[in-house]
Amino acid sequence: MEKPHLLAVFGYPVAHSRSPLIHAAFGQETGIALSYGKREARPGHFGAEVDKFVAEGALGFNITVPFKAEAFALAQQVTERARQAKAVNTMKVTADGELHGHNTDGDGLLADMTVNLGWKLSDSKILVVGAGGAVAGVIPSLLQANPSRIDICNRTISKAEAIAAQNPRTFAVGRESLLQGYDIVLNGTSAGLAGELPDLPATIFASHSCSYDMIYGDKTTSFNQWALDCGAAQAADGLGMLVEQAALAFEYWFETRPATAPVISMLRHG
Ligand code: NDP
Repeated sequence: MEKPHLLAVFGYPVAHSRSPLIHAAFGQETGIALSYGKREARPGHFGAEVDKFVAEGALGFNITVPFKAEAFALAQQVTERARQAKAVNTMKVTADGELHGHNTDGDGLLADMTVNLGWKLSDSKILVVGAGGAVAGVIPSLLQANPSRIDICNRTISKAEAIAAQNPRTFAVGRESLLQGYDIVLNGTSAGLAGELPDLPATIFASHSCSYDMIYGDKTTSFNQWALDCGAAQAADGLGMLVEQAALAFEYWFETRPATAPVISMLRHG
């Protein structure tokens, strides 16, 4: 029997990761034999753990919090998306042992919004809440869909300013200068993980607004519930983004793009 391709996700912590489940499903669907595990690396030990994995014959790996920037620094070559994000979430080990880095988070989000959800981003006014690593990584992909503007509002305004300075049509906006009724509001903060809501006025939503929360859970996220309570038309969580970024990683490794709808449905409904 063919030896399975060796893959894994690196993170700290990593126990919660659904990536092994997602890639096992992609492997079944495409008939590609793979073994995808979880590798916990303590901070300061990421590089050494990667070396070990490569020595075991790994084909590639994913990288999650907190190692995406470190992975970017480790890569010998990076794609344009990784360069824009200054972060790598997908690494390929080449035949001669080089590490090539890519970032699929932004294009995964874009695929979920435009293909799965059918949202129109061209000429839209987008509000992005938060200015951490995930937001920095997704802005170039959002811009590719030609929104009329992207406003970034973050608790720490300097971080929003730094991202805006690197991207066209992107503005750091304080709470008092927010527009009314954005077409799309993207919550890229981790506030919901602590059961908190970012401090924003309800007027950012109108009856046509779509809310996207990058986090996901068994029930409607607190941000999306608030958006719907404020009158937003639709709300989606980040499960679709998670599966779409994984499909793009799979394509980077195997040059074939698996179908995502059955996997999103499996994760959503068990
Ligand atoms: P970071 O730690 O880099 O950034 C966190 C951001 O959240 C910062 O902007 C921070 O503001 C803000 N924040 C945290 N707590 C609060 C609060 N109580 N009120 C207001 N703002 C707050 O995280 P990442 O950018 O890496 O990730 C952000 C989220 O996106 C995470 O929850 C992560 O799970 C999710 N994610 C989902 C993905 C998916 O596939 N669905 C992929 C990647 C990320 P400040 O700058 O002021 O500290």
